[in-house]
Parts: sequence; C-alpha cells; structure tokens
Amino acid sequence: MKIKLWAFSFLVLTFACTDGAKNKSQTKKPLNIILLIGDGMGLSQVSSAYYFKEGKVNFSRFSKIGLINTSAAVQKITDSAASATAYSCGERTFKKMIGMSVDTVAMQNITDTLSALNYQTGVVVTSAVTDATPAAFYGHVPSRYQYEELASQLAVSSIDFVSGGGLENFTQREDGTNQLEVMKENGFVVDTVSLNRFDCDPEKKYAFFLSYENMPKMPEGRGDYLPQATQMAMDYLSKSNDGFFLMVEGSQIDWAGHRNNAEHLITEVIDFDNTVGKALDFAEKDGNTLVIVTADHETSGFALAGDQYEDIRFATTQHTAAMVPVFSYGPGSEILTGTFENQEMRSKILQAIVDHR
Ligand code: MG
Ligand code: ZN
Repeated sequence: MKIKLWAFSFLVLTFACTDGAKNKSQTKKPLNIILLIGDGMGLSQVSSAYYFKEGKVNFSRFSKIGLINTSAAVQKITDSAASATAYSCGERTFKKMIGMSVDTVAMQNITDTLSALNYQTGVVVTSAVTDATPAAFYGHVPSRYQYEELASQLAVSSIDFVSGGGLENFTQREDGTNQLEVMKENGFVVDTVSLNRFDCDPEKKYAFFLSYENMPKMPEGRGDYLPQATQMAMDYLSKSNDGFFLMVEGSQIDWAGHRNNAEHLITEVIDFDNTVGKALDFAEKDGNTLVIVTADHETSGFALAGDQYEDIRFATTQHTAAMVPVFSYGPGSEILTGTFENQEMRSKILQAIVDHR
C-alpha cells in the first residue's frame, strides 16, 4: 500500500476552485473507476453480442450512453497507442506514441495522477501487458514497439495489480536484465503460471504474466481468464478504502477485426461482455464505483449483414474513423453521455471524482 499523505492536499488544492464544499470531503469514500476498453469495438461489434451470445447481454444494463470521436492528433483514423494516450493523458498525440505529446514530451497518465492521490491501480488485458493500450496507462515511449523499455517502465510504475501476457519482454531482453527481479524488489508477487495462487493480500502488489507473448485467443481456449482476472483485481484493489482505478482491455476484438475473423471477433466480444457483467455486479453492490465501457477506435468496418458467421461483412482489415459508443454506470456517469472527444475522457473521470467528494 502506498502512503502518500501529501497527495490528499494536492487534490484539495488542485480542485479548490471547483469544489467549495470541503467539509464533506473527509468523510466520503473516493470514487472507484473501472474503465473497460474493447479494442476495435464499434457499435456493430457490440451488437454482435445480442445475436450470438446465449443469455443476458450485459451491455443492456446501461442507461447512460454516449459517442466518442477517436481521432489522433493529425490522423483522422487513430491507432490504439494514440487513442489510449488521449484517454489516459488528456491530450491527442501522433499514432504509435505512448504517453507522450506530439513534441515527444512525457505526459502524466491517469494511473500516476490517481496513484498520487492514494488510489490503488490495476491493468488487466488479454494482450501482452506491453501492448499499446495497457502501455498508455503506465509508460512513455515515442514508439509503441519499444516493448522492452515498456516492460522496464511497468516494473517501476505506480501499478499495483497487472495481468496479461508478454513475459518475453521481462525475461528475454537485449540488455540481459530480468525485469521480474526488479518487480519483486519493488514489492510485486510475480506469477507466470496461473491466477490460482492469488491470496488477495492488500499489503502486496501482484503481477500475472501468463503467457510468453499474447494471451491465447478465445477460440483457442482462453476460457474465463478475463472475467476472473478482473474479479480478482476488483477484490484486491477494493481492500483499500482509498479508491481504485482499474483499466481492463478486451484486446483481441481488434486483432480479430484485422484478420476479418468473425468467430474470433464474436467470441472476444462475448468474453468482454461477461467481464463488463463482473464490473457492473461489483459496482451495483458497491455503490461507489463508476464503470465506463468504450473502445479506442473501430476496426474493420464490421457489419452484421446476416445472422450467420458467413454473412458478416468486413469493409477493411484496418481501423476506421467511425465514432465509438461509451456506456457508463454509477456516480458521475451523466457526464459521460452525449458526444465528446477521446482526449476529454481523462478530465471527465477526474471531474466525476471531484463531484463525488
Ligand atoms: Mg489494445
Ligand atoms: Zn488494431
């Protein structure tokens, strides 16, 4: 657990002009934030859950809906690096850049901002943990492909719980170092085998690197890894009463789109929807949690042209400029409705936290 008492006064000072009611700020629990990103998940991808999932679709549980324009700094069609950076750092940048401005200056990501306010923080993905979307929540590099540098940055970051693939970037490195050792020195329990030995001790930090490269695809038997790791992260992060920020990514919706693979895409969306259900169950019970579900961009111009896999159409193997839906639930969700730009996400989350105090 981090002890940063100065951080609380930082919050008071920073938001002093927007919050006159200081006297209640000492008593209310900080607002938890769960941001779930379906990489490449446009409205048709969301819709596929309605036609291919057996049982209840968790997207149906939202009443606060909006649309986000996902463009990068100059390119209308973004990539995951620029879009996740906009979400996390509050400013648009060039494609391929992680946590850096167009001038290649490191920007503060939301994980560090909230960690400095005593929040517990977590990242759970189905890609390598060094992939672009998670990287924007701890890293700063000019190129998203600097995987080994990103692993080094994660090892000393403010993250308390991380789960995904990408073990190779920690152990098989050009510089010969073993970044798992750095993480252990930094207080992490590192597990490269399974989620099953988790003891949910709030005095520890946890890193699960469960595959050498990416996590398996759903059609290859990944099972309930994503909902399970998300549940573990929520259980662990909520043991502190200081508030938590958790980013969860359904990473492979995008990859299935690039490959125009309908079966992979739909099974990834259903897995993501199951994970959204876990987050909503937690938030409904907790009453102090804002759940935000969106995408970084749309991939493939996916179209539901029929009710069989073979009737599905793809317009491209690339990303598109289509706006993406944003679903939210809980305190502050009203400010995530309407249409907005991806770089506004960060300030909206911080505003929701301030409004809740
Ligand atoms: Mg991604
Ligand atoms: Zn992509």
